[in-house]
Amino acid sequence: MNMRHSGIGMTSQRTRNRLIERLRAQGIQDEVVLAAMNAVPRHIFVDEALASRAYDDVSLPLGFGQTISQPYIVARMVEILRAGRPLNRVLEIGTGCGYQAAVLAQVAKEIYSVERVQPLYERAAACLDELQVRNVTLRYADGNMGLPEAAPFDGIIMAAAATHVPPTLLEQLAVGGRMVLPLGAQEQHLCLIERDANGYRETRLEAAKFVPLLIGKA
Ligand code: SAH
Repeated sequence: MNMRHSGIGMTSQRTRNRLIERLRAQGIQDEVVLAAMNAVPRHIFVDEALASRAYDDVSLPLGFGQTISQPYIVARMVEILRAGRPLNRVLEIGTGCGYQAAVLAQVAKEIYSVERVQPLYERAAACLDELQVRNVTLRYADGNMGLPEAAPFDGIIMAAAATHVPPTLLEQLAVGGRMVLPLGAQEQHLCLIERDANGYRETRLEAAKFVPLLIGKA
């Protein structure tokens, strides 16, 4: 790891350790998720000017009206997705800066991530490349379509809020798979969808605040 990756001062490993302690205090229990959060340098994914705030538990602007999710919500969603078991193939809708994709890359074999804003897609690709993350495939596309060529997925995670669950994504969820997404408009909550041989089961979880899932490519 080079100096930029390991970081100094506010971006150091010590700062990251504090983040992990905070996540534990907030209720994150899955050690695999905590290790993944510890392994990924979040400051690489945010603007240089914001790097000193990269490990605060806040969402930060990414440009293009988008935000990088706060670390707690990334950890929480990945914990729900994992449910304590190893994941094989995961689809993420809304790559943004690529931070969550890098965390997912630590807990699943193959990640596919879709982003509708081209400059974000390009920047995420550059960051993941810099960190030599090899098991993430990025696509510049409308996530409402999912990614039929790589389906089925045993996990689907959405980083933007939908008013209803896109049916195409339900179809691309494997039997035995889990999907985590924010649902709602002004008032949002996290929603877990589990697919078994008989169909889908939806569980409403905690309140959330995400940018909206939009339609089409930008
Ligand atoms: N996971 C991201 C958070 C991104 S914020 C991270 O770690 O930084 C949500 C992202 O979803 C934004 O980048 C937005 O452009 C994207 N998005 C919104 N609607 C989308 C759609 N229909 N398809 C793909 N991406 C979408």
